[in-house]
Amino acid sequence: MAEQSRRLFLALWPEPALAERLHQLAGQAHRDCGGRIMRQETLHLTLAFIGAVVEDRLPELLMVLGRVRVPRFHIRLDTVGHWAHNHILWAGCTEVPPALLQLAADIRREVAAIGLPVSEPAFVPHMTLLRKARTPYVPAVFEPLEWDVAEWALMASCLAPHGADYQRVAAWALD
Ligand code: ATP
Ligand code: MG
Repeated sequence: MAEQSRRLFLALWPEPALAERLHQLAGQAHRDCGGRIMRQETLHLTLAFIGAVVEDRLPELLMVLGRVRVPRFHIRLDTVGHWAHNHILWAGCTEVPPALLQLAADIRREVAAIGLPVSEPAFVPHMTLLRKARTPYVPAVFEPLEWDVAEWALMASCLAPHGADYQRVAAWALD
């Protein structure tokens, strides 16, 4: 029998209050842009994508990820972008905190060091709000959403027709 594997990625997960505000923003954008709206509980910011990992590699992965030490940081979500090539509409930040870049880079380095595949170095922090959006979104007024980031998580993704379901596998506090 094939070994059990899970589809893994690392992400920042907003607190419920922030997720609610992002979902409201997604709802406004959806009225103009159409597409498929991300469910509130699935809103996240991906730091690194690994893909299928067999269960017996998990202890080693948890061990190396536990070495990552990055200070807490703050994200100001102040922009809504649209990628024409994949029709994704997303929330992002015009100023990317250096600690966020460091976190993504350190995670990717640790994952690569144990020979697991990890997404390319290019990291564009974004939170997907809509998939299959027809057009960009130009909000009339957009009050930035403030996010004090205190932890990051290893997540498992289960692909489903209604959109992926995500499960938290482990989490680490920032310093
Ligand atoms: P679906 O694929 O059903 O649309 P999803 O993209 O949210 O759902 P996954 O494909 O499991 O679910 O991806 C989990 C997270 O990792 C998402 O944030 C996704 O954008 C990101 N991701 C997936 N593949 C890659 C990749 N090759 N490189 C970088 N990030 C990726
Ligand atoms: Mg995907």
